[in-house]
Amino acid sequence: MKDSFGREINYLRISVTDRCDLRCRYCMPAEGIDLIPMKDVLTFEEITQVAAIAVEKGVNKIRLTGGEPLVRRGIAKLVGMLSKISGVNDLAMTTNAISLSKHADDLAAAGLNRVNISLDTLRPDAFKHITRGGDIRKVFEGIAAARSAGLTPIKLNCVVSQSSSEPDAREVNKYGQENNLEVRFIKQMNFAEGSFAVVEGGQGGDCPRCNRLRLSSDGLIRPCLFSDLGFSTRELGPSQAIERALAEKPESGGKCSHNWMRAVGG
Ligand code: SAM
Repeated sequence: MKDSFGREINYLRISVTDRCDLRCRYCMPAEGIDLIPMKDVLTFEEITQVAAIAVEKGVNKIRLTGGEPLVRRGIAKLVGMLSKISGVNDLAMTTNAISLSKHADDLAAAGLNRVNISLDTLRPDAFKHITRGGDIRKVFEGIAAARSAGLTPIKLNCVVSQSSSEPDAREVNKYGQENNLEVRFIKQMNFAEGSFAVVEGGQGGDCPRCNRLRLSSDGLIRPCLFSDLGFSTRELGPSQAIERALAEKPESGGKCSHNWMRAVGG
């Protein structure tokens, strides 16, 4: 499917929950964010229905994200439902990997192809600080489990303040090279100010080549990470919500009324 600027849209990022087991400083305010009431969170059946309609319209790549997708109870069941939609060539997940060692085998068996894992530093104390309490050892266990389950290629998402030449980013890059993990550097974004950059080593942030739509955990099709636009799949129905998002997808990112990735769904 094409948007009004002729961009081919074939990628749907699905936020399965706004809940997370970490509290990364750049992703969530210290006081937290009001959680979406569970009645407003799409069921697995609803998510699968939206995904199937998106695939009929031309999506062939799906990524599960959040919040933290692994905290959504029964996530492997959802993966199984999505992997049965014919026409999905790439079913991936972005995760902080804190509980990946428990889930990797089930996810792979359900049809997940691969994972991207967020890792901004190799220093345990710095990791604990950035995530407000996270244990980096669990991430390394998660990486090992993903590898042995065959959720490959494993990519690392590393958020940097300014550039990939910062000491923590260089360490993560070296670790990636030594362990056959592709590293992508994401410059810390400010949603309220509309500041974002092209992801180094990845595809995000490049508006002329943007191929994405997002589905938020409360059922909005969001055409752009840097816009408040969202079209309700429950109110409009999935097909019309997708068509409206396509028609109104901005040519390039602007600003949001909030400054938290977690509010949109990464
Ligand atoms: N919980 C999962 C994780 O940590 O990968 C998935 C959701 S998280 C919102 C997705 C990605 O967005 C992570 O790689 C995270 O580091 C990144 N992220 C969150 N806030 C950001 C910001 N303000 N600027 C740049 N990247 C951000």
